Amino acid sequence: MLGLQGKTAFVFGVASEDSIAWAICQHLAASGVTLYLGYQKRFMSRVFQLKDKLPQIEGFYPLDVATDAETKEFFDAFSAENPGLKADILIHAIGFAPRSCFDRPILFVEDQDINTAMTISANSLQRCLKFALPHLNENSSTITLTYAAANRFVPNYGIMSMAKAALECWTRELACHLGPDGHRINAISSGPIPTLAAGGIPGFDKILDHVEANAPLRRNVTQSDVAGAAIWLASPLSSGVTGQCIYVDAGYSITMVPQSIMDN
Ligand code: NAD
Repeated sequence: MLGLQGKTAFVFGVASEDSIAWAICQHLAASGVTLYLGYQKRFMSRVFQLKDKLPQIEGFYPLDVATDAETKEFFDAFSAENPGLKADILIHAIGFAPRSCFDRPILFVEDQDINTAMTISANSLQRCLKFALPHLNENSSTITLTYAAANRFVPNYGIMSMAKAALECWTRELACHLGPDGHRINAISSGPIPTLAAGGIPGFDKILDHVEANAPLRRNVTQSDVAGAAIWLASPLSSGVTGQCIYVDAGYSITMVPQSIMDN
């Protein structure tokens, strides 16, 4: 039904079993997709422990999107081991900002730290696609992960808000640039989920509590909720959808005044 059987995916952003990208791997594998993972060297041992849990993972190669050279390293290793093979799906679930982006008011974050956050969390979508393109089949689907702080204030998200706004803009621009060749690029705006990356945001638990109390579904979303939307975006069922930002947030983003103010 999904039309994903026999497809191939590049998945970037697995660091642990809690990673949103890991749930996406599980859903893609269950739909018949063969997986090639790009891992950051600092998470190598964790990622290698996951390897045996999904037989659909055919390859693991180092990837660091901080530079062209370390991004190209992934595709060089992939094509050396799998000559002529192309992928249909690219999952970009990558985000990072230095500690200093969160431990002081945004007015005092240094340029180089802002630049790191923008390079890794936003501009890397362009970098990944630049090197991926020769290894992607026609009608490929790329999915990136964003957060609602891109267009609304969330306390303590700081510089990452700017990065996510830029990432959503890259999604639209790249969708227009690559659309004539049939490639689709979409973003999923996930509600807050406890992961390694989320652990770096001060007060994250308070955001989880607030969303659970106020989202229309009165709960937080899970990695599996996000992965469900991702496999739809990866599949031909969404063939007419590109450049979009799909919210998977238990409906939180449609609210403004919380119902709870009427409670007493
Ligand atoms: P995670 O820590 O499991 O994943 C983040 C990934 O980014 C890791 O695999 C890490 O290796 C990778 N990464 C960081 N710097 C990199 C670099 N230089 N090169 C290559 N990879 C690099 O956390 P997650 O929450 O699963 O994050 C995945 C994506 O989802 C991120 O873009 C994050 O901003 C986004 N997101 C997360 C939440 C949430 O609440 N967890 C909400 C909305 C969006």
